[in-house]
Amino acid sequence: MTVLTAAQDVLKELGVTEPSEIDIDAIAWSLGARVKYRPLDGCEARIAGNGDRAIITVNSRSSRRRKRFSVAHELGHWKYDRGRILVCRSDEIGRAGENYPAPERVADSYAAQLLMPAYIFDPIARSYPKATFQTVTAIADLFDTSITATAIRLVEGRHFPAVLVCHGSKGRKWFTRSPDIPDRWFPQDTLDPESFAFGVLFGKHPNEPMPRKIPADAWFDRAEAQRYEVHEQTIRTGDDEILTLVLIRDPKMLEEWNTSRASHARRR
Ligand SMILES: [Zn+2]
Repeated sequence: MTVLTAAQDVLKELGVTEPSEIDIDAIAWSLGARVKYRPLDGCEARIAGNGDRAIITVNSRSSRRRKRFSVAHELGHWKYDRGRILVCRSDEIGRAGENYPAPERVADSYAAQLLMPAYIFDPIARSYPKATFQTVTAIADLFDTSITATAIRLVEGRHFPAVLVCHGSKGRKWFTRSPDIPDRWFPQDTLDPESFAFGVLFGKHPNEPMPRKIPADAWFDRAEAQRYEVHEQTIRTGDDEILTLVLIRDPKMLEEWNTSRASHARRR
């Protein structure tokens, strides 16, 4: 059973048909897990299981939406890593990318599907035609999920033709992209001063109200990027954190290259 269907089956069994019915504490209870909220230092959430009962503890100082995601993440561990006591740090929950441990990624995918299940989420996402942070915010409000978790869900669920990149002042923290975007579009580690995102992160500029056109080489350092334009929208998500949607719509950028051409490009 895939992560996707496993989480959705839990909700379908409970008869959930609306975002407002996704009561994460009640869902946890139905799965044998009791949720406690306590101030935690050094970690965001943890789970201790015994037989078919578990106790999930979540940091009470976190925001409401963060706490919901953390409970759902721990339920992912309960499903896939049963029998272990797990302690999850803040930077291990609700991010994206390939550079963090597989069990955390699986728990996050499960959490995303539990809070934003495809059978409810996809029709709602399709009713918002514009790929913007306004759309992300509206959907996040409906599902009571964070901007970051919702943006990841929209991009990875093919609703936005985008690369989603998270930066702090020390550089790129993580990124993810829609399955429709070819792998060769790999964002640069450090922000280009030409990008609008640079001004939001370092110049304390306000959030960008709409995606704006920018040369693609502000985001990608491939020679090919000089020929294209992308649209960029950045918002601040923390004291030292911004999130950028890099929207790729040019059909030439979306073309998959065959292997011989790709290996030729690597040799250059
Ligand atoms: Zn975890």
